[in-house]
Amino acid sequence: MIPLGQAQELVLGACRKGIPTSVPIDEAMGCVVAEVVIATELVPPFVNSSRDGYALRAEDAPADEAGGPVRLAVVGSIMAGSLLDRPIGPGQAARIMTGAPLPAGADAVCMLEDCSDEDDGTVVVIDHPVATGDAVRHAGEDVRIGDVVAEAGTVLTPAHLGVLANQGMDDVCIHPRPRVGILSTGDELVAGPGPLAPGQIRDANRHTLLGLVRREGWDAVDLGIVADDEGALGDALDRARVDCDAIVTSGGVSVGDLDIVKVVLEKRSGGTMRWMQVAIRPAKPFAFGTLEGSGTPVFGLPGNPVSAMVSFELFVRPGVRRIAGHHALHRVVIPSVADTDLRRIPDGKIHFVRAVLWPDADGRWRLRPMAGQDSHQLLAMAGANALAVVPDGEGVAAGGRVHALLTDPEWSSADGTRGGARPW
Ligand code: AMP
Ligand code: MG
Repeated sequence: MIPLGQAQELVLGACRKGIPTSVPIDEAMGCVVAEVVIATELVPPFVNSSRDGYALRAEDAPADEAGGPVRLAVVGSIMAGSLLDRPIGPGQAARIMTGAPLPAGADAVCMLEDCSDEDDGTVVVIDHPVATGDAVRHAGEDVRIGDVVAEAGTVLTPAHLGVLANQGMDDVCIHPRPRVGILSTGDELVAGPGPLAPGQIRDANRHTLLGLVRREGWDAVDLGIVADDEGALGDALDRARVDCDAIVTSGGVSVGDLDIVKVVLEKRSGGTMRWMQVAIRPAKPFAFGTLEGSGTPVFGLPGNPVSAMVSFELFVRPGVRRIAGHHALHRVVIPSVADTDLRRIPDGKIHFVRAVLWPDADGRWRLRPMAGQDSHQLLAMAGANALAVVPDGEGVAAGGRVHALLTDPEWSSADGTRGGARPW
């Protein structure tokens, strides 16, 4: 058996960052920035009001509670997107909306709530103190010219997209979103709703793996089911090589398996294919190599559905994250408290136990294993949101510390509970 870390290193060593390319910012959500972006524009671009109110000279307004009220002549009204055609002189004010440019002469805004109109709005009565700079947003308060708005390696979030738009950018230079091909192998597999002949099973893995790829924000390429047939599998790989940055197969990599997948991958990988027994449970069998010519990484996952998912989590996800340009390749490991016993026997492997992980009212993460831990029990996996990492040994007793990977942050149980009290 090969240690998990070693198998992961082997994968990561063969996965290379995609070549940077420019794409429209609206196609870049979740992508990794390839080239630092430096601000060339001020944000906000001009001095403006942060409130609806009256722009004025602070020296004209009451300096303290005892000083008011004062009456100022209203000389105009400024909407967002418009300018006042004159400066504000002594004893004058202008109606101003949030985001409108502060007129020349004015140095503060009195918000509407702190004043009142008189004489059909030609006079404003200020009865609250106003100081220089009140309700004024200065040019460059958010971003100054020369600021780094996105380092290389930044994962673009919705906020970043707005930050880039604020710089007037149409396009951003990123590592392209990886295209990941998914292929199921096995003569027993059937797609669609038709009746099953004896010995046949439905192809669950392709749909699960396509979903895992899409959940990462990558482009999923459905390569279909390929029977245990050398020609068919070879053709599928040839097509995938052109279209995909990585190829994921499931089935046919275990020790006892029919040799077809092994033969074909062996032939097309120029001897790079490694057939591993990784010291983990589930997902012990794992194959990895690169296609000859293109260097496209090929991940050979085990056929059991839960094993395929765990293998995706531990090998495909970090590998393709590297292709996508991510610096952080692995999931955050969360220390949690075992809600019940997580007993096991020593076997030289790390066990990845399907579990529910939730934060309790005291801010501690708690973990409960699912019933049904066999590698064909996909429904139990569907009810889980985490993998508990139980190292080799006797396991963990209830109340003990167990590390976990939160594999599905969006998880909530069917009754809507997500754990953790709302703090409002
Ligand atoms: P294998 O890795 O090919 O030895 O398959 C191990 C187990 O997973 C067998 O019970 C297969 O029938 C099952 N299996 C293989 N491929 C799939 C698939 N695409 N969907 C569901 N089960 C599968
Ligand atoms: Mg098989």
